[in-house]
Formats: sequence, structure tokens, C-alpha cells
Amino acid sequence: MSLVLTVDGARWRAHLLSTVTRHPGIVPVAKGNGYGLSLGRLARRAQWLAEHAEETGAPLDVVAVGTYDEVEEAASRYAGDLLVLTPWRPFGAALDLQDRTASRVVHTVSRPADLAALRERDPEARFVLEQLTSMRRHGMTRRDLEAAAETLATAQGGGARHRLRGVAMHLPLNTTSHLGEVTRLINDVVASGLPTRTVFVSHLTSDELDRLATTYPDFTVRPRVGTGLWLGDRGALSVTSTVLDVHEVERGDVFGYRGRSVPKHGHIVVVSGGTAHGIGLEAPTGDQSLRARAATLARGGMDAVGFVRSPFSIDGKQRLFAEPPHMQASMLFVPSGARVPDIGERVDVRVRFTATDFDRVVIS
Ligand SMILES: *Cc1c(COP(=O)(O)O)cnc(C)c1O
Repeated sequence: MSLVLTVDGARWRAHLLSTVTRHPGIVPVAKGNGYGLSLGRLARRAQWLAEHAEETGAPLDVVAVGTYDEVEEAASRYAGDLLVLTPWRPFGAALDLQDRTASRVVHTVSRPADLAALRERDPEARFVLEQLTSMRRHGMTRRDLEAAAETLATAQGGGARHRLRGVAMHLPLNTTSHLGEVTRLINDVVASGLPTRTVFVSHLTSDELDRLATTYPDFTVRPRVGTGLWLGDRGALSVTSTVLDVHEVERGDVFGYRGRSVPKHGHIVVVSGGTAHGIGLEAPTGDQSLRARAATLARGGMDAVGFVRSPFSIDGKQRLFAEPPHMQASMLFVPSGARVPDIGERVDVRVRFTATDFDRVVIS
């Protein structure tokens, strides 16, 4: 009855261990829907990885969460430090941290003014300084870094420099090399005079990480990895829905919320999984105008009778939505000639893990 993510546990755990072994400075990222696996499960698994440090050679002293709202959920399952990827601001959830967890948090600071404001509120706060990259999402320019270095150098008590855990750069999902950009950014760190030699990066290939380590032997480059860690071995993961009902239909029969009629003989197959799970959000919302249909047809997502391709596959063939997905179920059209699945049968579903809420996650 459910949309289920089934994980081959032995294979998945082996992939996790080999990934952290290859990247001992790794910072696992556990955020959002936990890449389909749930945030809590990933935090527990990160704790498990930390407990395997002797085997992997990776100390795993910090896990990254996306937002301040996610801190508590991770903090109760993972015992080490929690790096919050969303930059600290002098408002919102960042100010509501519980005392118990605040000391385990490493903040991301992306504006010089925020550095002063954070340190004023919590002189003990630990933080990384985010650099502005070609993403242009958040971050400090070279000038901002210099201002931050100045602030830290003149801070009273002298401990401020030790609370700086490194700089962070968030890079686009480029297909071409990031090395030119990273080189410029690291040079900016050196020029700013900031007292750190640790850089947190995202989306670098193993090859790029190796080359950086060679080019900057005095720097520690720590990759933040989500997708490549948790979902890196796709063969260990399978997503299935269940056939809930099957109806044979003739050309002209009416079906569905919109009273469409069937274009030709075949079967309507009702499967579990709908919009509530995040299924088929790309599918047209019933806009059957010629233009919308032509655009979808041009993308190869619609067949000649106006059905849109669905993410559900039966016998390895991707089937068409008979109409846009419902909240928890979807209606597919299987033309005559194709095998009709039995009620209760599992069918494969292709999903975006980061946008899918599974009814159940089963790890063997
Ligand atoms: C989500 C995120 C990551 C991890 O990205 P993946 O593509 O899942 O590996 C790294 N850094 C930042 C800042 C992020 O927001």
C-alpha cells in the first residue's frame, strides 16, 4: 500500500565505510528529508560511522545540518559537533538554540556584521567563515574576509582566533573543473591573514580533492558530502510502489477526476504514490492546452494520445500517467498488448530522493 525505499543494508553500510575511508576529513551532510532516508536516521548512522573511526581512519568529529531548526533532531542522535550550513543571522531560529546543544554547534558566518553580532551574543561561539563563490548564494568577498580577520585580531581575550574553525566555500555542481575558482578563493584566505588553514568544500571530485591536497599541503581540505555518501551507491537502493487496482477500459470510457476518456483499449493501473510523496511534480497539472501538450511532446514526455510519462516502470518499461498524480495514488495507462500487472505486485519508481517522502524505509 506504500511507497517504499528498500535499502540493501550490508551494501549501503559498506559504501558508507569505504567513502569515509577514502575521505577521512569528510563532513557528512544530513539535512532536509535526509536524502529520503530521514534526518534522524542519517544522524544515527553518522554516529555509527564515528564509532567505526578506528576501522576507517576518519575521526568524524562534525556533521553538517542544513538549518538551525534541524539541530535538535541531529543532536539527540549524533554526539559530536554540528555545523549549520545556513549562515547565522541576528534573527530567527539561530537565536533559539537550546543551551545544551549551543556549545556543540559550529556556526556559518557569511557577513562581517554577523561575526560581530554573533560574538557579542555568545563570545564562546565557534564558527566557519563562508566565502562568496560563483554560486552567489551567501558569503564574504575578499574584502569582507579582511574585515573579519581584523575583527578577530583585535578581539578582546585573544581566544577568538581559536573559535574560527575554517572557511567554507559552496561550489556549483559544475561539470568542468572547480580548481581555478578554489585556487583563487584559497589565495584570498591566505591574503586576508585569517588564522586558519582549514577549508570546507562541496562538490569537488576525488581527483580535485587530491590535487588540492598536493597544491596546498599546509591546508586541510574537508569535503562536505551528502548525495555521494548517502546515495552514492544507487544499486543499494530500490524504490517500489504497489499495484492497488486494475481496470480494463475500452476506447471512449471515462475515468479520473477530470472525466477524460480513454483513447484506446488497455488498462488503467492504480499504483500507490502521489503528490504527497513528491511523485510527478514535473507532470503538467492537467493543462491540456495545445501549447502545453506541444511543449511536453517536444520534451519527449508525452505520447501521441496526450498522456504524460510517469516515473513508474512495469517490466522495465516506463508507463504513462493516465492523469496527473493524486495525493497518495497515481493512475497509469497500460495499452493493450503489454502485460497487465497483478494487484499487490510491486513496481519500480524513479524518484528524486531529496524531494520524496517515503511511507517506509526498510533497511535490511
Ligand atoms: C547540501 C549541501 C552540501 C551537500 O551537497 P550534496 O550535493 O548533497 O553532496 C554541501 N554544502 C552545502 C553548503 C550544502 O548546502
